Amino acid sequence: MPGFERFGDLERKELQDVLDNGVLMRYGFDGMRNGHWKAKALESELKTALQCDYVQLVSNGTSAVSVALASAGVGAGDEVIMPTFTFVASFEAILLLGAIPVLVDIDDTLGLDSKAVEAAITSKTKAVMVVQMCGSMANMNALSQVCEKHNLLLVEDACQAIGGRYNDKPLGSIGDLGCFSFDFVKTVTCGEGGAVITNNEEYYTNADHFSDHGHDHVGNDRGAETHPFLGYNFRISELHAAVGLAQIRRLSEFLEVQKINYTILRDALSQIPEVTFRTVPDGGQESYSFLNFFLPNLETARKTIESFKESGVDVCWNYYDNNWHYVRKWNHLKDAKSLFPLSKEIKEALGILSEKTFTQSDHYIGRNISCLIKLSWTEEEVKERAIKMVEAIRSSI
Ligand SMILES: *Cc1c(COP(=O)(O)O)cnc(C)c1O
Repeated sequence: MPGFERFGDLERKELQDVLDNGVLMRYGFDGMRNGHWKAKALESELKTALQCDYVQLVSNGTSAVSVALASAGVGAGDEVIMPTFTFVASFEAILLLGAIPVLVDIDDTLGLDSKAVEAAITSKTKAVMVVQMCGSMANMNALSQVCEKHNLLLVEDACQAIGGRYNDKPLGSIGDLGCFSFDFVKTVTCGEGGAVITNNEEYYTNADHFSDHGHDHVGNDRGAETHPFLGYNFRISELHAAVGLAQIRRLSEFLEVQKINYTILRDALSQIPEVTFRTVPDGGQESYSFLNFFLPNLETARKTIESFKESGVDVCWNYYDNNWHYVRKWNHLKDAKSLFPLSKEIKEALGILSEKTFTQSDHYIGRNISCLIKLSWTEEEVKERAIKMVEAIRSSI
């Protein structure tokens, strides 16, 4: 990842089709299209790639999460359990609906800890949102069991893990609803785009209407369509979908390159006894979009990041000190810095969050280094990088 590293003629051709017929919108204008329905075609390709019954494209991954939750009826005052390690999009998508984000610890998978989830369940809990960070996954069996036992919805954010699998199912297809992002830095990119996937027909119909102003999409006269319920505009454009269509057809090519590059780096780092790797649950197969490893402690992790910088090893992060991905630096959330008034329940919940510590998450995130696996590296470049990484780590521990 990211898919833009390999842009070429395939993307150009799909995009040119849209420009040639001039229909930039995914719905309507049947006569002008000359048979080009890029969003529909991308939904169909995603159905096959993700082995699911229904796909609804939306404008981005953050809106995919909001649309998924709304489609299953999650809203004002409902609690949604989410991990401390994710992207800010997770709580944004929950707050947008007036629902309450409840943050809980991760474990050595770098995903939600099922025991922490169970301990956080209250009478207001409606859903558990698992985030498959950095190309791998949480222990999905354990989480599915907790959700089943407590009758909770399981929503899977697989924005960073397209192509990963668990018990031979694509990540994103395991929960009741799955969410994907095709933003500019994801493995498959549209520029901006996202998708909600599900095997539940009702959730799908809700997502289809909700993401287009509540339009029922019956017949071919948009002006005459009815609105069974309120919706918003989370549509994708044909221009974006066209790029995504070319990219999704290249997913197996991208995954193959990611795996080769990941394996070279992992084999090299395995020679250092102090380095351990993130746990991938039994039955899990990573998408290889990132290589994640642990060092003995926060101090050695920070030192390693510094040595990486000095030796020109880029795209590696220790998320403990990161503003985007870890709860420690989310002060705007903890301080409820909203442009508009938030509900009393949300403010109370954020007040509780601001007082909370997450020792178990700190333990894993503090020691973790996460390295992006690029698609544009040559084999020689990856091998050189591996040597530099080993040297930098050895000098820091
Ligand atoms: C990228 C990302 C999102 C949000 O996607 P956008 O398309 O950028 O809105 C959500 N969750 C995770 C884990 C992501 O990495």
